[in-house]
Amino acid sequence: MSASEPGGPAMKVCPDCAERVKQAAAVCRFCGHGFDGRPAARGESGMTASYAGTQTTSVLAIAGVVCAVFGISVGAIVLGILGQREVDGSGGRIGGRGLATAAIVIGVIELVVTALILISVIGLFTSGPSLPSWL
Ligand SMILES: [Zn+2]
Repeated sequence: MSASEPGGPAMKVCPDCAERVKQAAAVCRFCGHGFDGRPAARGESGMTASYAGTQTTSVLAIAGVVCAVFGISVGAIVLGILGQREVDGSGGRIGGRGLATAAIVIGVIELVVTALILISVIGLFTSGPSLPSWL
């Protein structure tokens, strides 16, 4: 019930709720919008909570698993080791150590299988005309 100044210029429109508030106000009295560029106080706490829960997965570990899937054993082992180091050195901000370990294990298995195949193939070529009995 106050007789406000007629046509007073000291008013601005809140961009959030479209209400008219005083020009000197730092925070909208209707919705809590901050005019100095800072978000409302309740928004800050919510953003901090969600940020703390966010943990990125090591890109190197993912690349190692991709290499393992495509049979690139050496790439899987190297990327897996680098991924483990990245996870260990991140202080908990980067996850995916299990993925990196899986990439190393799969890469080693693929390397052993590849080596066994190579050895048997070389053995076939160097054994001369007499084929092994199991062929
Ligand atoms: Zn407002």
